[in-house]
Parts: sequence; structure tokens; C-alpha cells
Amino acid sequence: MSGRGAEQPGTTDRAPAYGHDALIVCDNLLRIYQSDLVEVQALQGLDLLVHKGEMVAIVGASGSGKSTLLQVLAGVDTATAGRARVAGHDLLGMSRSDRVHYRRHVVGFVRQQAARNLVPYLTASQVVDLPMSFAGVSRRERHRRTAELFETLGVGHCAQRRPHQMSGGEQQRVAICVALANQPLVLLTDEPTGELDSETAQEVFAALRTANRELGAAVVIVTHDAGVTHQVARTIAIRDGRTSSEVLRGPGAESGSAIAEEYAVMDRAGRVQVPQEFRQALAMKDRVRLALAEGHVEIRPSRDEGE
Ligand code: ADP
Ligand code: MG
Repeated sequence: MSGRGAEQPGTTDRAPAYGHDALIVCDNLLRIYQSDLVEVQALQGLDLLVHKGEMVAIVGASGSGKSTLLQVLAGVDTATAGRARVAGHDLLGMSRSDRVHYRRHVVGFVRQQAARNLVPYLTASQVVDLPMSFAGVSRRERHRRTAELFETLGVGHCAQRRPHQMSGGEQQRVAICVALANQPLVLLTDEPTGELDSETAQEVFAALRTANRELGAAVVIVTHDAGVTHQVARTIAIRDGRTSSEVLRGPGAESGSAIAEEYAVMDRAGRVQVPQEFRQALAMKDRVRLALAEGHVEIRPSRDEGE
């Protein structure tokens, strides 16, 4: 008899799965774009956890895989391998009809260019009405929700305007209303302030915070602008399709007054990247000494190098 079918050691004690209590879980996520000539690894083993009601920013250089990640989370693209789960929905194993339901009710997605989220010949009221009509919401309830969203995001004056009659910031806020129309648990926004001046960008961040606080949606903002760190409680850095570090801020994050603390992301195998400044400061190279201490883990330069 071979050992096939025997339980792996450790599987019997049923440790909770990675991120079992998180709203968004990406576990070793891989997305490879393949064409005849080239293969691009846009996501290469990305891990990410976002909890219910959180507002986080994912920051990274152009080409680091941010839009790819958001498209996977929005259910408009499928990862090549790994695990992605949002509110209990398995994004790699969804049927076509599950996917329709997921995109309609669980997530709201604001695409990279504001205008692409709107329809040139529809007014703001009409475009916000669309996702609710598709979902079979009654006319009366649609009117009520549209008015409430416009009021909450401060775009009531745009109700009868078409996109070309709105400013960039207004378009973006109306696009956020569209994404929120069916009361999703998660709002995903790709470079929401990319085309805006800094004052208008502030309006959009304020709108996103409102969506987070008053409507209770978890908000994920993807951007190449590291300045977004001041706008949210948690920033996650993405590099080459992997999450590399996190910055957490305490209350008062918006004012930029809280002291930032650097966090590193630990992957499932326990790997952690020690920031370069830390390594340089202590001349850490190749081997380090690890020790379990009271409530923390110590990393010291190895004896040969540091002492
Ligand atoms: P970001 O949003 O951070 O700028 P993307 O997720 O758009 O990054 O892209 C990540 C990588 O994947 C880049 O190298 C990009 O060229 C590549 N890529 C994105 N979309 C496609 C696609 N449809 N086909 C092939 N390669 C793609
Ligand atoms: Mg992008």
C-alpha cells in the first residue's frame, strides 16, 4: 500500500484556514497573461486580507499588477491559480450565474477612467438606476436609493446631467454612486483620483470615506500615488505582483497626524521581508539570528557579521 489518501500530518487538528474571518482573502494568487509570444506574470503569489468595513489602499508602481488584482476581485477576470474569496464567494470556482450575482450584489467596481463607468447619453439619475433595474429593485426603492446616494456623496445637483456636463470629480462621485447602487459589501476603485487635481481628489477621497463609514462598505483603493497613505488607515504596497509591506495609521489618519508604523506582510510559508533600511542599519545579510521573546520575535544580525 502506498500512502495515497492518508491524511497529511496537521490536517486533522483543523486549524482555521488562512483568512477564514476576513472579507477578502487572496492566497498565493497567480495571474498569468499568455499570448503566442509572451507570458506575463501580472500576479505572482499575492497574499491579501481585508476585513469587513475596512478602508485600505493598495499602492504600487505602474505595471505592478494593481488593476489585474482589482479585476480579479471584481469578478471581471479570473486568476490563473491560488485562492481568492470575497464574502464567502470562491472567485476561481464560480459558475457563470454565480458570477453575475456576485458582480451585481457583492462588489461595486469603479474602473480606472471615470467616464468609462458612465454612459455618454444617460443622465446621472438614469445611470445609477441601471444596476438596480437589472437587479429587479422596485421603482420606488430605486428612486429612494438614488436620492440617498446623491445626497450622501454630494452630487444631487448632477442628477439630470450627462457626463460631459459634469466635472471630473463629479463624474467620479457619480461613478461611485453607480457602484454602490446595489449596496455591495465591497467597493473597489482603480486609480479613483488619477485624472484629478489635488483639491478634487480630496473630494473623491471624502466621498470614499463616506461610503465606508455611512454605508458600511469595505473600500479598496488601488493607486500608484503613495500620497494616498494619508487618506486611509491601512496601506499595502504591491511590487511585481506580490504584496510587500503595509503601513498602518491610528485614528486621525486623514489629518496625516498619526504616526505611521511599518508592518511587513508575512506569507503563508512564514516569509517576511525585512525593510532595506533596517537591514542596512544592522548590516544584516544572508543569515540572521531569530529568537522567540515575550510577545515578539527578535531578528538580530548573525554573530559573524554583527558582533
Ligand atoms: P498596474 O495596474 O499596477 O499598472 P496591471 O495590473 O495593469 O498593473 O499590469 C500588470 C502587468 O500585466 C503589466 O506588466 C502589464 O503589462 C500586464 N498586463 C496587464 N493586462 C494584460 C493583458 N490583458 N495581456 C497581457 N499583459 C497584461
Ligand atoms: Mg492600473
